[in-house]
Amino acid sequence: AFSSHPIVVGNWKMNGLQASLDQVLAVREACATGAAGRCEVALCVPATLIAQAASLLAGSRLMIGGQDCHAAALGAHTGDISAEMLKDAGAKLVIVGHSERRANHGETDAIVNEKAQAAARAGLTPIICVGETRAERDAGETLRVIGRQIDDSVPRGSNPEATIIAYEPVWAIGTGLTPTEKDVAEVHAFIHRRLATLVPTGGKDMRILYGGSVKASNAAALLAIDHVDGALVGGASLKAADFLGITGVY
Ligand code: PEP
Repeated sequence: AFSSHPIVVGNWKMNGLQASLDQVLAVREACATGAAGRCEVALCVPATLIAQAASLLAGSRLMIGGQDCHAAALGAHTGDISAEMLKDAGAKLVIVGHSERRANHGETDAIVNEKAQAAARAGLTPIICVGETRAERDAGETLRVIGRQIDDSVPRGSNPEATIIAYEPVWAIGTGLTPTEKDVAEVHAFIHRRLATLVPTGGKDMRILYGGSVKASNAAALLAIDHVDGALVGGASLKAADFLGITGVY
């Protein structure tokens, strides 16, 4: 069944120059006309484009997000960006614990937890990413790994309305591979059960996005799975036409 309160989030990663603001404008236009579907829609653009993108969106339901934040609000952290700075630039959400951050920057569950707390402190919705590697899935360890990541990355007392989880199998990101619908259903239901123990105020209502090689041609099948409340989309979010083929499923 389709979620009653879905959100589709694009993650541009380290892509996007001034000219790419045209794509933001095209998504904004589709949100205004209804062509983007009835879900919530957000684009996590590179930090260099956040302020400009957000300034284009006054009055639009399209939201802008960041892709990472530091745990501290300010200080001697050269090259880092705080959640407060993202908020100040006009962001509404921020991705934390993406597998590329975990792999390339050594981010642990404890660090991701601090970043999610920083996001909440600044008034941003954290999108907390979890996901198993191919080796972990092949070893039958998926639920154990996801359980640990959820337990340790999701702050206790998180506001279920203002916290989003993204299940992104590492081996499905940017590969064109996706898990079976049965496997997606199993992990998402497992995460909702786990969240209910961590966040007694309504963890089972926290939205869980699926991410990993979502594109227009597979979106309808993936988004119809129980406990899937939307998508986190990498490659297919760079061009408005591709992205709208996914949001338009709702
Ligand atoms: C991502 O990195 O968040 C992602 C889902 O990437 P892709 O859609 O390109 O697999």
